[in-house]
Amino acid sequence: MITVRGLTKRFGDTTVLEDIDLDIRPGERLVVIGPSGTGKSTLLRCLNFLDRPDAGRITIGDLTVDAATARPAEILALRRRTAFVFQSYALFANRTALGNITEGLIHVQGRPKAEAVARARAILAEIGLAERADAYPAALSGGQQQRVGIGRAMALDAALMLFDEPTSALDPEWVGEVLDLLRRVARQERTMLIVTHEMQFAREIADRVIYMEGGRIVEAAPPEAFFSRPRDPRTRRFLTRVN
Ligand code: ADP
Ligand code: MG
Repeated sequence: MITVRGLTKRFGDTTVLEDIDLDIRPGERLVVIGPSGTGKSTLLRCLNFLDRPDAGRITIGDLTVDAATARPAEILALRRRTAFVFQSYALFANRTALGNITEGLIHVQGRPKAEAVARARAILAEIGLAERADAYPAALSGGQQQRVGIGRAMALDAALMLFDEPTSALDPEWVGEVLDLLRRVARQERTMLIVTHEMQFAREIADRVIYMEGGRIVEAAPPEAFFSRPRDPRTRRFLTRVN
C-alpha cells in the first residue's frame, strides 16, 4: 500500500498543494486531471521529493518519509521506489536509447552492466525499438523518444510509476503510439499515477480518476461514475469545458 498524508507544498506565499491525502493500492492505476496551474505536476514531484514538500508523509511499503524529518538517505530510498516519466522526455542527449535505459539500472540500482544491458534490450523489444538501440535521442522521433522515456521507467520496476502528461509535448502524429504503449504498460499490474488531458484514455485505463483544483483533491471515483455522474460542481464545470 502507498499512502500520502497531509502533503503540503508552498512556493513563497502561495500554497500549491494543500493537505493532500491519498491511498493507492498496489497495481492500481490512478489518473489525475484538472486545470493547468492546479498543482498536478507539483503533486507528482513531491511524491518523490523532486520538489521537497513543506509538510506531510509518504509511505511506500515499509518505507515512510516525513517531510519534516527526511534525511538524504531516506529521500534516495524513496526515489528508488518510484519512476518518473516527464512530459519533455528528459532523455540524456549524449546516450543512446539503450544507454538511457541502462543508466538508472547501473547507477541507481547498482546492477552489473551485462545484466542491465540484457534488461534494457528486453525493454527495447517490448517498446518496439529493438532496432534503434544504438540511436541517440536526436535521431529518434518525438514518439520514439517518449517510448524510451517510458521504457526507462519500466526497466526500474518501481513500486510507483509517475507520469506527468506523457503525451502533451508530442506532435499529434506521435500521440497514438505513446498512448498504445501506456495501455500496454497499464496491463502489467504496475502501480501508476498518471496526469493526462486524454479523457478517453483516462476512461479506458483508470481504476480511479482524481480531479484536482486549487491544490486540493476535489473528487475521486472510478471512471464510470466519475465521467457520467460527477458530484462536485467544479468537476462538472471542468468536464463540460474539456468535452
Ligand atoms: P499543473 O501541473 O497542475 O499545471 P503545477 O504543479 O505545475 O500545476 O503548478 C502549480 C502552481 O505552482 C502554479 O501556480 C505554478 O506557477 C506554481 N509553481 C510550480 N512550480 C513552481 C516553482 N518551482 N516556483 C514557483 N512556483 C511554482
Ligand atoms: Mg503540470
